[in-house]
Amino acid sequence: MKSKKILVWFRNDLRLHDNEMLVEAIAKSDSILPVYFFDPGHFEYDAEGKIKEGNSGVQFLIESVYALRESLKKVGGNLLVVNGRPEDYMPGLVEQYEISEVYHHREVATKETTVSSNVEDLLWKLKVNLKHFIGHTLYNKEDLPFPIKDIPDIFAQFKKKTERDAIVKACFLSPKEISLVEVEDWGELAEYQSVSTGPSGGEEEGIKHLNGLFKEGAEIYAKTNNRAGADKFVYSSKLSPWLALGCLSPRKVYWAVKDAERRFGTNTNFNHLILGLLWRDYFRFMFKKHTIHFFTDIVTDVETSSGAEQDEIHLQQWKDGNTGHLLVDKYMTELNLSGFISHAGRLVVATFLIYVLKLNWLDGAGYFEQKLIDYSPASNWGNWANVAMGGKDPRSKNSFDLDKQIKMLDLEIYAPS
Ligand SMILES: Cc1cc2nc3c(=O)[nH]c(=O)nc-3n(C[C@H](O)[C@H](O)[C@H](O)COP(=O)(O)OP(=O)(O)OC[C@H]3O[C@@H](n4cnc5c(N)ncnc54)[C@H](O)[C@@H]3O)c2cc1C
Repeated sequence: MKSKKILVWFRNDLRLHDNEMLVEAIAKSDSILPVYFFDPGHFEYDAEGKIKEGNSGVQFLIESVYALRESLKKVGGNLLVVNGRPEDYMPGLVEQYEISEVYHHREVATKETTVSSNVEDLLWKLKVNLKHFIGHTLYNKEDLPFPIKDIPDIFAQFKKKTERDAIVKACFLSPKEISLVEVEDWGELAEYQSVSTGPSGGEEEGIKHLNGLFKEGAEIYAKTNNRAGADKFVYSSKLSPWLALGCLSPRKVYWAVKDAERRFGTNTNFNHLILGLLWRDYFRFMFKKHTIHFFTDIVTDVETSSGAEQDEIHLQQWKDGNTGHLLVDKYMTELNLSGFISHAGRLVVATFLIYVLKLNWLDGAGYFEQKLIDYSPASNWGNWANVAMGGKDPRSKNSFDLDKQIKMLDLEIYAPS
C-alpha cells in the first residue's frame, strides 16, 4: 500500500510546542515533509545575492527558521527550505514527493489568505487537500461564546464575554519523534547582512525570554512591588517578536503567567500581559469578521493636510526621527535602530503623525510594517486604525490628544522639558 505523506507548511508558526498542525500530521501519516518558503517578493537582495537588511525583522525571521530546523533535527526531522513562492513550488513538491495532503495554519490578512487560496486551487487540480488549522490565537474561534459574525466590535464587551464564557485550552505537547519523507537536498537558508542588535529569533530563545520574566524576583514580579504598579502602561514584556512569528504560542504565554500567579500571586503586570493577548486576539477576530473593511471603511473626522509636497517632507522627518518633538524623535530613532518600541511609544508616534502632522495613517502603518520586528498585520493595522478613530471600538475616540496621551501614559520621565 502507498504510504501516507503529509507536507507540513510552516509560516508564522515556527515552533514545535503547542502546534496542533504538526502533532496531527505526525499522527495521521507515515512520514512528514516540513517546508518553509522564503518568498523573494518579501525581501530585497544586494549585488551578491544576499538579503538586504532593510529591517531587523528579516534577521529575526531567518534566525527563527534556522532554529526551527535545528529543533526538528533533534527529534529526527528536518526542514526543507525553498527560496521561492509557495504558489510556484508547492505543486512540484507535492508531485515529486507523492504527498497525500498539505497542512497549514490559517491566516487572517488579505496577503496571506490570498496565498492560501492560490495554493489551495493549485492543489485542488492535483486532487490534494489543503487542511487549515487555527493556532495563532489564545482562544479558538470554536470556543468563543459567539459566532465570528456576532463578535462584539467593542473590545470591553469582547473581553468580558470571552473571559466569562470561553476557556483557554492546554498546549499541545512537542513531538518526541518525527518520521521524515526522504529528501536529498534540504536547501540552504538565505544569507543576510547581519546588523540587528535586537533579540534573537527562534522558539528556544522565546521560551528562555518567557521563563526569564517569571524567575523568582525577576523583573515582571519585582517591578509591580517596587513601583506600586505606577508604570503599568510603560511595562513591556517584549514577547511580541516571538509571538508574531509563532515561535511562542499565546497559550504557552498564558499558561506561564498562570503558573507564575500560582507561585507569586496575581499582580498588575501579569494582568497586563494577559490583557495584551486578548487585544491581540481581538484584532485578529475583527480582521476575520470584517476582513479588510475593518480598516478600509473607517470614518475618520481628522482633517488631513493638503500640501502634498509639505506632507512628503513631514513624513520623511517623522520616519527619520527628525520632527523636532523630542519624545517622538526618540521613539522613531529607537524604531529605526532596533525594530521595536513599546506600546506607549507606538501610540505617541502614531498620534503625532495623524493629529499633529495631519498625515494619512496608512503611510504610518506602512512604515511600521517595514520596520517592526514584531510586525503582524492584524495588530499593526488594527492599532493604527484605532488611533485614527477608525477602530470599531468607539471608546477609543477622543483619547488621541498628544499631550493627554503623554500624560495618561505616564511618560513625563521622557518628555522634553
Ligand atoms: C500603532 C501601533 C501599531 C502596532 N503594531 C503592532 C504589530 O505590528 N505587532 C504587534 O505584535 N503589536 C503591535 N502593536 C501592539 C503593541 O504595541 C505591541 O504588541 C507591544 O508593544 C509589544 O510589546 P510587548 O511584547 O512588551 O507587549 P506587552 O504589553 O508585554 O503585551 C504582551 C503581548 O500582548 C500582545 N499585545 C499587547 N498589546 C497589544 C495590542 N494593543 N494589540 C495587539 N496585541 C497586543 C502582544 O503580542 C504582546 O507581545 C501596535 C500598537 C500600536 C499602537
